[in-house]
Amino acid sequence: MILIDGKKIAAELREELKQEVAELKTKYNKVPGLTVILIGDMAPSQIYVRNKEKSANEVGLKSEVIRYPDTVEEKTILEKIEELNNDENISGILVQLPLPKHIDKQKVIETIIPSKDVDGFHPMNVGNLSSGYESSVPCTPLGCYLMIKKIEPNLSGKKAVVVGRSNLNGKPMTQLLLKENCTVTITHSRTKDLKAECLEADIIVAAVGIPELVKGDWVKKDAIVIDVGINKTENGLVGDVAFDEVSKVAKALTPVPGGVGPMTIACLLKNTIDCFKRSQK
Ligand code: NAD
Repeated sequence: MILIDGKKIAAELREELKQEVAELKTKYNKVPGLTVILIGDMAPSQIYVRNKEKSANEVGLKSEVIRYPDTVEEKTILEKIEELNNDENISGILVQLPLPKHIDKQKVIETIIPSKDVDGFHPMNVGNLSSGYESSVPCTPLGCYLMIKKIEPNLSGKKAVVVGRSNLNGKPMTQLLLKENCTVTITHSRTKDLKAECLEADIIVAAVGIPELVKGDWVKKDAIVIDVGINKTENGLVGDVAFDEVSKVAKALTPVPGGVGPMTIACLLKNTIDCFKRSQK
């Protein structure tokens, strides 16, 4: 079984991006800039944002974190986004989710100009992705996609099953696999026989949030299995896939932690650089 080493693949990607940033600097005499807006002091968000900032600096991007207390008014955030939209030194804007209840998430997402939407959440980017046009793609599914392509460069005709239909993971993942000519089934909490669906799959991407939902006897021999889930349990951090069982049948599998997680941040940097390149065209 191939253990898909997300840390290693992410490190390789960051190395490529570092080179690319150096080349862009030579060509344009400036580097892509990423601005992250962080509201409140929730511990996980603080950690994510610190890691994003560290990785951005590592590849040579200009990065900035703007912090607000969780009592900040929605209007202040929207005005700041408008200001960043108009700042030509900023290539990418990210507002760290989740937001305090009094701030309308969709309004925030839609205020970010699509060309700087490094999370790929703006309806324009969602539409472009589903129409097969160039767009920012949400970072986690993009990372999953790049890992799958490392194992199997030609996905044409493969049967893929995506478990979970969130806007963040399942839906964009489906679009990426469709673009590769996979036959894709998207499953969710109302799916009648999830095991039977999974057993058909050459590729399974699980993004649910239920510890070890996908069992060993749900997986076809030699399937590629990508585990997006991050679940805190009494036994530590586990994914949505029963790792020990599935590793006995799968051709390739991502571990949790050390699989999808590291790729998510690397893809954020990639998206920032891609936004910069499109803005120079
Ligand atoms: P979500 O809660 O928004 O969506 C979960 C989806 O799972 C829903 O579409 C729901 O219909 C489906 N679902 C629920 N119960 C199901 C069942 N019994 N069978 C089949 N489908 C079922 O979750 P999300 O934001 O997509 O996150 C999913 C998981 O991925 C979480 O554990 C989250 O922590 C993790 N995550 C990891 C990363 C990363 O970088 N590795 C990034 C984002 C999310």
